This record gives sequence, C-alpha cells and structure tokens, in this order.
Amino acid sequence: MKEVLTNPTSGYYMNRDVFGQTGDFITSPEISQMFGELIAVWLVNEWTKCGRPTPFQIAELGPGRGTLMADMLRVFSKFKIAGSDFSVSLVEVSPYLCQVQEKQLCPSQAQEATEVPQGSQHYKQSISLYGSQIRWYNHISDLPRTFTLFLAHEFFDALPIHKLVKVNQGWREVLIDLNRENLNLRYVISRDRTPACLYSLDSEKREELEVSPQSLVITQMMAARIHQDGGIGLVIDYGHEGDKTDTFRGFKNHKLHDPLVDPGTADLTADVDFAALKWAATQPRTFEDWEANLTYGTVDQKDFLTRVGINLRLEQLLASCRNVNVARNLKSAHKMLTDPMEMGSKFKFLALYPSVMKKILERYPPPGFV
Ligand code: SAH
Repeated sequence: MKEVLTNPTSGYYMNRDVFGQTGDFITSPEISQMFGELIAVWLVNEWTKCGRPTPFQIAELGPGRGTLMADMLRVFSKFKIAGSDFSVSLVEVSPYLCQVQEKQLCPSQAQEATEVPQGSQHYKQSISLYGSQIRWYNHISDLPRTFTLFLAHEFFDALPIHKLVKVNQGWREVLIDLNRENLNLRYVISRDRTPACLYSLDSEKREELEVSPQSLVITQMMAARIHQDGGIGLVIDYGHEGDKTDTFRGFKNHKLHDPLVDPGTADLTADVDFAALKWAATQPRTFEDWEANLTYGTVDQKDFLTRVGINLRLEQLLASCRNVNVARNLKSAHKMLTDPMEMGSKFKFLALYPSVMKKILERYPPPGFV
C-alpha cells in the first residue's frame, strides 16, 4: 500500500489529481463548502472552550486539493481570527498535491512561495489568501511545538495495513505474491509467523482482521502533542469500531477495483479501525506524567453534521441563491453528505482532547458528539 500510493516516482498520489468527477473518488469537502464551514465553526468553538490560546496552528494531515482548508480559512477570517494568531501546517507527501494546495490556498502572484530557510523542518512555505503563514511538512513529527488543532479527513484510510488471518497453527499474515505462471499478483498466507503476527491478539474474536501500525504511531504522536502542548484532534474517515474483517479495496473511476490488478492506477484504501486509534490515543505508556487523553465518538457523519447545523446552513445558502441549478446542487450535496445510504453513516467522527479539559467538557460536551 505504501509503495503503490506514495512511492516518490510512481506512487498513485505523487503526480496527479485523483479527486472529483474526472478522478477516481470524491470526498466530502469536494462535494460542498458546507462540510468545511461546519468543521471550522466547530473548531473555533472548541478552541474558545480551551481559552483561545494564541499562537496556535491548524495542522491538516493529507489535505488533498486543499479545499477543506480553503473553506475553513474563509470561516476563520469571518470570525476575525487573524493570520498573526495562527499558522497553517499541512502534512503532505505528494509534491503534486502540494502544488495544487498552494494554488488553492495562496492564489495571488504576490503570495508566491518564499524560499525555505536552511535547517527548517518544513519543505515549503507561503502566505494564505487571508494572511496566515502556511507551511508544508513531510511528517507529523516535524510540526512545530505549539497548541494545535489537528484535522485528518480521509487520511488514515490511505495508510498501509497488514492483513492477518487465523489458521489451525495460529495467526498468519496474508501476503502478496507473484504467480509465476501468468505473472498476476495473488494473495498467499504466510507459512510461518511474520513480525505483524506478533501483534497482541490474545482476546481477538475475529478470525481475520486488518491492522495499521503506522496509523497507531501517527495517532500516538498526535495524542502526545495534544497532551504536552495542548490541542484538539478531529479524525474523520470511513471506518468501524474494531469489528470488521476484510475491507481492503481499490477505487478507479468511482468504481471498486481489484487492488492486485494494475497497482498504481487505482486508489487503495482500508476502513479505519477507530477502536485501535482510540487505544493508541489513550495509551498511558507514552508519557511519564500521563493522564490519558479524552476521546469522543465515533459518531456518524449524518449525526455530527446535523447536530452542528448543516440544515440551517443549507437554508441560509438557499435563501441567498438565485440560480436554480446551484440550488439543486446544494440540496443534492446535503443529501449525499447526510443520507445514511450515501456518506451519512459510512463516515465517522472521532475527537481527541487533553485530560486537562475534563471538567469543562463534562459541563460543555463537544457539539456534534452528544
Ligand atoms: N483530505 C483530502 C484528501 C484525502 S486523500 C480530502 O478529503 O479531500 C489522502 C491525502 O493524504 C492525499 O493528500 C495524499 O497525498 C495524502 N497522503 C497519503 N499518504 C500520506 C502520508 N503517508 N503522509 C502524508 N500524506 C499522505
């Protein structure tokens, strides 16, 4: 998965725009501005609950075309949260998508990327349309140490998984092999235990499952930052609570695609195991003075968006809309985002808070989650 998606020269994400009608899949922020606007309002609300600490950064993992961030920055500017208060940090491995994000977020000639000082942790920097600093990073561990609003939308599902299966002799790993007769790729079960089989599965009820160590490491890093420097995390993805077994699949031209056929030409994805992410986010062994972070959710996308006011936002947009086609598109986008048969219940929201927020959250729980 890692090679196919992010190999520097031929990785699926590395040199093309894969989103939207002409790409392979479409994501919620690309469907409607309402999505990013509501998330921004939620983040401003929760940042306010934390006492509006400044300076702070919004750190987005895997920003795609930068559409979600563009919608959010517009909302931040309406709340008069100025560029001097916060900076934008984007964690992106794809040089191509980094350019697309730059065009979207820093469109004016005058705001062209400036040279990155030697020894910096980031690989690119620029100034957004609304005056805030934007910096691009390769990895979450490179981000500056400050209060951070973390956002990961359809990021974790792109991280590599191991597939494990229970056979008579115990747990084995499903590997990918080359069939020498026809040169096709095929799944095989490892003869012996592989390192992934050392994953602790003593109380596991499933006979088959997927684990993503990289997702757990990144979640722990996010949790550590939230604990040590203050912050909030919002993770949105399709996923489950540790009960699904076989979700690895490919998408090409908006249709399911066999991941073993023409690797590199289709998106590869696996549902996010949110139970595992919650475990990683609250693991006491990470820190010496630990009191576990707090997690909220998961809740379904339809519940989150409805509770934070998507119906009201739709009404507002329709009230100021003079074009019949635009109005029709707004209504169909609302349905696509919230209908349980579409994205409404496949997508889940998970929030992370530091333990110091416990008392405040007992009184004022996070909107969207209750
Ligand atoms: N959040 C966007 C895009 C989702 S696609 C949206 O919802 O529209 C996944 C994104 O994560 C892409 O930007 C891809 O280039 C990036 N990505 C994938 N693997 C990554 C990794 N290991 N580190 C950083 N970014 C990664």
